[in-house]
Amino acid sequence: MAVPKRKTSPSKRNMRRSHHALTPVISQECPNCGELKLPHNLCNSCGHYNGREVVEIQA
Ligand SMILES: [Zn+2]
Repeated sequence: MAVPKRKTSPSKRNMRRSHHALTPVISQECPNCGELKLPHNLCNSCGHYNGREVVEIQA
């Protein structure tokens, strides 16, 4: 089995992990029903986008 020759320094380890941060999920309130939705996406709970119903939601 391949084994690393040298221990990775804390600096190199942290440089590798500099890309590991998660971005927070951004959400906005739907102006029609007030549910949280993703910006620039139609609302999951009422199916509205840009002031009109785009998709009918089966209840
Ligand atoms: Zn809605």
